[in-house]
Amino acid sequence: MRFYQATRFLFPRHYERRILAICFGAVHLPLLAGLAFQAWRDQWDFTLLAVLLVATLIGTIGAILSVSALLAPIHRATLLLQDVQGGRPIDVVPVGGEDLVGRLLHGVARAASENARRVEKLKDAAERDVLTGLRNRRGFLDSVAPLLAHDSESAVALIDIDHFKEVNDEHGHDRGDQVLTDFADQLASQLRRSDISGRWGGEEFIVFFPGTPPQQAQDILARLQQALRNAPALLIEGRPVTVSCGVASVRSYTELSEATRRADQALYDAKEAGRNLIRVAD
Ligand code: GH3
Ligand code: MG
Ligand code: MG
Repeated sequence: MRFYQATRFLFPRHYERRILAICFGAVHLPLLAGLAFQAWRDQWDFTLLAVLLVATLIGTIGAILSVSALLAPIHRATLLLQDVQGGRPIDVVPVGGEDLVGRLLHGVARAASENARRVEKLKDAAERDVLTGLRNRRGFLDSVAPLLAHDSESAVALIDIDHFKEVNDEHGHDRGDQVLTDFADQLASQLRRSDISGRWGGEEFIVFFPGTPPQQAQDILARLQQALRNAPALLIEGRPVTVSCGVASVRSYTELSEATRRADQALYDAKEAGRNLIRVAD
């Protein structure tokens, strides 16, 4: 480090140029020594000086080109590290050998993949509901947005557990939490792989059915209601937990909040009509 610090006055912002300047000096040493020796003896051999001059010129060009090329991977690694620090994705990190540059590139590749993993984990944590493991509102909206880019008829449904407050009041908050977790498991197992579910808040859940007309979504929700009737974990004092659902059609992301509002109105209608029902918005 001492030599590095001591030579910082040479191109303080350009390490590569410092190395090249030192190479430049080293390559010129034989020529300078030849000149000094002949000056000291006061005997000039111009043929020898010409040979030294040409050799120095070739050596200088060769040294500058090859040292620049050898320093290029370090320059590249520095730019890649800046991307890692800035949280930008990195496509490919070049592979080096077993030497110093190879180890540096390997370190950059490791830092890049660890960083990408950490960002992914943080993003996932920010978009998941801790209790049920389903997406939270943000996660749901982020997942649905790209699916609503194509203009095809899809459906959005709001699902609300009936009389859930009574579970809490009569069996405690922990039992209430357990019901929410068991319900989330049932929901996940009854939906298709392409459907996107989330916890909308409290004991209310949301599902997006891509490319699915509301009537077909209604059939899937009816299957869910049937599964709840047969789920031993969701029996409270021998009675199954039931849900009410409101469904609305949606075609684009800008329509989503209006469609969710209509699904909420349909859900309200299902509650008013006696609960454990599915209503489709007009
Ligand atoms: P309805 O059939 O009309 O939907 O009645 P409900 O009792 O299900 O609805 P209400 O809105 O009256 O009560 C919802 C309850 O859900 C109240 C709230 O304390 C409870 N709740 C919300 N989030 C949680 C949670 O994370 N855990 C538990 N255990 N309870 C929750
Ligand atoms: Mg409820
Ligand atoms: Mg509710």
